[in-house]
Amino acid sequence: MNPESLLPTEEQYLFCIRCGQCVTECPTFRVTLKETQSPRARVMLVRKFLEGELSPSPNFVDQIYSCLDCLACNAVCPVGIKPADLALQMRAYLHKTQPQPWIKPLVFRVYFTHPRLIELSMLPFVLYQRLGLQRLLHSLKANNLLPAQLRDLERLLPNPLPLRPLRASLPELIPARGERKRRVGFFLGCFQNTIFAQGSAASIKVLAENGCEIFMPRNVRCCGMPHLGYGELDTFLELARHNIALFEREDLEAIVTDCATCGSTLKEYGHYFKDNPKWSKKAEKFSRKVRDVSEFLLETGFRRPARKLPLKVTYHDPCHLRRAQGMWKQPRQILEASVEEFVEMEGADTCCGSAGTQILTHYETSMAILERKIKQVEASGASVLATGCPGCQLQLGLGAKKRGLKVQVFHPVELLDLAYSYSSDDSQEERC
Ligand code: SF4
Ligand code: SF4
Repeated sequence: MNPESLLPTEEQYLFCIRCGQCVTECPTFRVTLKETQSPRARVMLVRKFLEGELSPSPNFVDQIYSCLDCLACNAVCPVGIKPADLALQMRAYLHKTQPQPWIKPLVFRVYFTHPRLIELSMLPFVLYQRLGLQRLLHSLKANNLLPAQLRDLERLLPNPLPLRPLRASLPELIPARGERKRRVGFFLGCFQNTIFAQGSAASIKVLAENGCEIFMPRNVRCCGMPHLGYGELDTFLELARHNIALFEREDLEAIVTDCATCGSTLKEYGHYFKDNPKWSKKAEKFSRKVRDVSEFLLETGFRRPARKLPLKVTYHDPCHLRRAQGMWKQPRQILEASVEEFVEMEGADTCCGSAGTQILTHYETSMAILERKIKQVEASGASVLATGCPGCQLQLGLGAKKRGLKVQVFHPVELLDLAYSYSSDDSQEERC
């Protein structure tokens, strides 16, 4: 791929009127109060680079990578500038034209393209928890000796981690419960396979409960979002081709996922292949079928549980569900059907600071954004926080631990599954 073809066009940056509407929406600006950490500045940086006035210095690269891709700026710009998209395009260009750290190909071309490697890499953490080493470390308060970033990384993972990855625990074809009404594919994300297996097992149960036969291919690979985020476009396209080919062999009404990030990426496959005569139709057809699980359940009508869980629940909008996919009513409707009390928190749609790897690359900013978010969760008075993205689940779980809150984090559909189990009188159930 010619690197120049990756560069933004003049229309994408030249018409920025510097109005500043995007500035106060930007989480990195809100916590740093630095103009250089705002979308407006990122647009200007890109422009100055393209006009030859800036070189790709480490500082320039860092500003481009400090964007969380939360899409808040894209949504508010009155002239249609998309600063988040510009940042991603610049990353792809820089990846092609600048020297990259040696570890990058290993992570993106080897690790993320082999699900088995991802699963194996979780094993030390599973053993660390299951052999009681984590409990020991915490009881001795030895974790407090770690530097702050390492301490937070240690606390990031939920406890307990699943013993087995989900793709090894379920068959490829999962039958509907009762009469089969639909046949769907299930796209199992890397996080749900290894860290939130219980959440995706719940999504699959809910789909089966609602008359779906589910095809969950074992050799599905990463959706490619980490590659897009780090400018590894060629590997992204390779993964996309693999995943499209895997699902196109089956006759499926929809391809469902319970990961907001996977869902938004899969829905973009069509866009990334639009100029490829061999793949454009297939990719477009694939993307048209992709549904977030809450979107699918509302679209097709789901069985309401007879009894609601006696819980007070609030909800955090994952950026890649609300802004990238326009889904915000659907998860709330699932929650309203599943729990006795649903409360909105202030700033439900602001980014939690996760953005996949910001805890590794921009730790201070990521934690400052998280702290604001967790204060809003606390103010809601909810005992459960629901959200539909594994990255957000990890980050918010960490935030709750750091603040000493007793708030548990669930996927909305996991709560629906729990409500089904909690309901004993089937005769009271009605359809949406
Ligand atoms: S995507 Fe989010 S973090 Fe990035 S510039 Fe826009 S508002 Fe700021
Ligand atoms: S990117 Fe859009 S919202 Fe932001 S300053 Fe420029 S014109 Fe205004």
